[in-house]
Amino acid sequence: MQDKNIPYKIYLDENEAPRSWYNVRADMKNKPAPLLNPGTLKPMTAEELGAVFCGELVKQELDDTTAYFEIPEKIREFYKMYRPSPLVRAYCLEKRLDTPAKIYYKFEGNNTSGSHKLNSAIAQAYYAKEQGLKGVTTETGAGQWGTALSMACSYFDLDCRVYMVKVSYEQKPFRREVMRTYGASVTPSPSDLTEVGRKILKLHPGTTGSLGCAISEAVETATKTEGYRYVLGSVLAQVLLHQSVIGLETKTAMDKYGIKPDIIIGCAGGGSNLGGLISPFMGEKLRGEADYRIIAVEPASCPSFTRGRYKYDFCDTGMVCPLAKMYTLGSGFIPAPNHAGGLRYHGMSSILSQLYDDGYMEAISVKQTDVFKAAEQFARAEGILPAPESSHAIKAAIDEALKCKETGEEKTILFGLTGTGYFDMVAYEKFHDNLMDDYIPTDEDLKVGFDGIPDIPMNK
Ligand SMILES: *Cc1c(COP(=O)(O)O)cnc(C)c1O
Repeated sequence: MQDKNIPYKIYLDENEAPRSWYNVRADMKNKPAPLLNPGTLKPMTAEELGAVFCGELVKQELDDTTAYFEIPEKIREFYKMYRPSPLVRAYCLEKRLDTPAKIYYKFEGNNTSGSHKLNSAIAQAYYAKEQGLKGVTTETGAGQWGTALSMACSYFDLDCRVYMVKVSYEQKPFRREVMRTYGASVTPSPSDLTEVGRKILKLHPGTTGSLGCAISEAVETATKTEGYRYVLGSVLAQVLLHQSVIGLETKTAMDKYGIKPDIIIGCAGGGSNLGGLISPFMGEKLRGEADYRIIAVEPASCPSFTRGRYKYDFCDTGMVCPLAKMYTLGSGFIPAPNHAGGLRYHGMSSILSQLYDDGYMEAISVKQTDVFKAAEQFARAEGILPAPESSHAIKAAIDEALKCKETGEEKTILFGLTGTGYFDMVAYEKFHDNLMDDYIPTDEDLKVGFDGIPDIPMNK
């Protein structure tokens, strides 16, 4: 039944939208470990990072003490096209589950890219434009990041070159066309346009590609092309900073109605939506002002947090990127081909890795058939057709709500609904036709990835 005081959807006014992003690192006692130069094993300097990334973004990446960064006006203007995004009380789902729990979700799928990724894409494109660059390069897996970036680049009139993991390029032709509609050029990876691509093709002919490999190609192109820089849609501290807009809006909306979540849940690929959603809540937790249970949900077929190692590792397959200390399955890890639900990156945000290691958050893994069951249950109750990635969080939220049903507890559950799944209908089809199974990597499977983690002094 509807709570008289709480609407189905809580919208904020334009003037209630955040004017700054929040940098959770400022409140962390144990700061995330710095990125290392893979050659010298010394922390990456601003100058070294500046060869790959835009200057202003490098500053954000290296700053772990400034709590608030003002959101430039042009970015706030762009945000107005699709933000503030609604915080929805899942009354219909609660009713179907017959649970005393109160469930809320922050919905980030209300834009053409269909996900939260636009929040950082527009920021990164803005700084590239301000720096006078001609364009940017990037990789995309499932295609959401590439789509978001192509939208952002067309807004600021920047060239956008996307390396798309080959298997997705072939399986998701519509994603590719959306990107091209916004003016991006899209190349299947590995390609013969780059040295690293040619090398990987020679070593693994017929490979369907991986994110780590596409990253190497995009970085190489950026560093070898005048007026270009590389941008990344997740994992980095700057991306979590931009995504804090999700959590800040959520917190404002909840405070307005006196709602305090007991449990906060997000799916975790590279950690950007989860990091963004939890940032202001985690800030309170770190400062000792409030406590929340925070749960990261990952696929059982790509279990970086729950089965990974906390080590310095390569961010890409070609080993051209800096080393990051993170929970990782090894840069050579590639999820089983039947894995359909996204979240397939081998590593995890260094910020979230440190918070997890320090016990400030939990992580669980879920099987993909359970994820799609939850997705369908959610779609039928709440109307929105969720992205498979988001559905990892849905699955965990439903499970927590069902626990409340057993105990009678009226917990408040908040989860991030990161996007819509219209481009994932092949995966939904497999699920409906019972052709989807749950391949969970064995310890031997994982060993292959772990063996590729660099054997350096700080990993001892
Ligand atoms: C990219 C993506 C994710 C996972 O990325 P994070 O960086 O972990 O947030 C989750 N949901 C959707 C819809 C995505 O597009």
